Amino acid sequence: MCGNIFDIKRYAIHDGPGIRTTVFLKGCGLHCWWCHNPESQSMGMVSMKQVRKLNGREFDELRPVGYEITAADLVEEIAKDYVFFEESGGGVTFSGGEPLLQPTFLLACLKGCKARKIHTCIDTAGVASGEYLEEICRYTDLFLYDVKTANPEKFRQCIGEGFEKACDHLKTIAERGNRVIVRIPVIPGFNDDSKSVEEILALLQTMPALREVSLLPFHRTGSDKYKRLDMEWKMGDVASLKEDDLQGMRATFREAGYQVL
Ligand code: SF4
Repeated sequence: MCGNIFDIKRYAIHDGPGIRTTVFLKGCGLHCWWCHNPESQSMGMVSMKQVRKLNGREFDELRPVGYEITAADLVEEIAKDYVFFEESGGGVTFSGGEPLLQPTFLLACLKGCKARKIHTCIDTAGVASGEYLEEICRYTDLFLYDVKTANPEKFRQCIGEGFEKACDHLKTIAERGNRVIVRIPVIPGFNDDSKSVEEILALLQTMPALREVSLLPFHRTGSDKYKRLDMEWKMGDVASLKEDDLQGMRATFREAGYQVL
């Protein structure tokens, strides 16, 4: 069973509990304007320009992004970090891209990791067919589930198609009893106003099993990749946010009874 990935990041500390190995799967049907990993969006291989220096002069080189790997080989790679997982309460996080777009590969990796007693986490925006979702849930300890807006029109304009699917899958996972941390990327001008926050809150309140929320400040990391991929960076000169900028929003979710991580 083969899948397409584009990176493996070891010793990650922001992708779930403890020290984690994060695997980035290729392919995403969305095109969030602020996406940090635009090279992930195409399921196939892409080439990204990289500036190299030779004898004090710069030149561009095209670097291929993405490669095929078998689930068995990937599990072997992940298991090399077992000692760190054990000591820190960490594990593996499958991110992307959208990991649910390669459901059979993901499932094979999850099963392999669980057979080795590795804590498993999926970082998803939920826009995928949902095929195998029930079985994927059985082998997943934690979902980091992106909720970017509760407004279908804004979703369509700045993210893509699939708002209803994202909501349906979130509901299915939450009602099934899987642990879910709702991750909200806070994007200036898109979802940082009080109306947008109230809308997201109202959406989450329709799913009472959801209790944990994490807010992620927008930052411009990755904006240079757009140039290197010949893609348009639609966020212009919007400045990065700092953790402190989110205090008010964090308080709103806390007051509504959510654990804000
Ligand atoms: S869902 Fe994630 S990977 Fe897909 S475009 Fe949005 S930010 Fe990028």
